[in-house]
Amino acid sequence: MPELPEVETIVNELRSSSLIGMEIIETKILWPGTISSLDPEEFIDQLVGQKILEINRRGKYIVFTLSKHTLFVHLRMTGKFTLCSSARLPFSHERVSLKFKDGRYLYYDDQRKFGKWLLLLHPEEKLASLGVEPLSPNFSLHVFKTILQASSQAIKPFLLNQQHIAGIGNIYVDEALWAAKIHPMQKACALTPSMIKKLFKAIPEVLKAGIENMGTSLGSKDANYFSVSGRRGDHQHQLKVFRRNGFFCPRCGTTIIKIKVAQRGTHICPTCQSI
Ligand SMILES: [Zn+2]
Repeated sequence: MPELPEVETIVNELRSSSLIGMEIIETKILWPGTISSLDPEEFIDQLVGQKILEINRRGKYIVFTLSKHTLFVHLRMTGKFTLCSSARLPFSHERVSLKFKDGRYLYYDDQRKFGKWLLLLHPEEKLASLGVEPLSPNFSLHVFKTILQASSQAIKPFLLNQQHIAGIGNIYVDEALWAAKIHPMQKACALTPSMIKKLFKAIPEVLKAGIENMGTSLGSKDANYFSVSGRRGDHQHQLKVFRRNGFFCPRCGTTIIKIKVAQRGTHICPTCQSI
């Protein structure tokens, strides 16, 4: 599932593709289930004629600020964008397409169909429902301590909760907890000041490394993440624990194991991350 670094990479590519200022002249919906805010006909009516003013990321959402509305796209498991200079041949996983005034098409493909598009007139409530951005100045040690101390949840599900910190998912949580030497079952409110400091440093570090490597593409043919240009990320080669069970911990040499935490496959070094 694309997380903050993958979504950031996609947003950077969309921004650098001269889509800002471009008018949407046609919209097709091949899978109505992708559209979650309006019925598909109304969605098309509202979208056509609007220009893209800005493209940003908030948490794992791609946020298109349009002339009138704000369009939120969540890629979930397998959502992907492809920008084409002209119409392409029909594709079985295509769910939505946008045609622009300059003749280009932005296709949205989603094999598993979990991705969602929301067109909102007032985006403030949606934006406010998401937690602090971990790469923004708002993510301070003080803010982090305060939200940790208010929760008796285990630290892994705490970090996965988008209302606490927005944008982190399974891959980067496992990497950050390994970097900070914290067991994923450790209670958020029970972290020591030293653990909090280490985790506060580790979260932006693992996310920035993911962005530098253009994201993480897992698997081979059906990798769950490709950039807009169809490029695979490179960060999978830099992961320290995620899906590295059976390999040695790069810090201490212990074999990495896979456990379940809050129903999620979780990868830890049992020596570095004892509880
Ligand atoms: Zn270790």
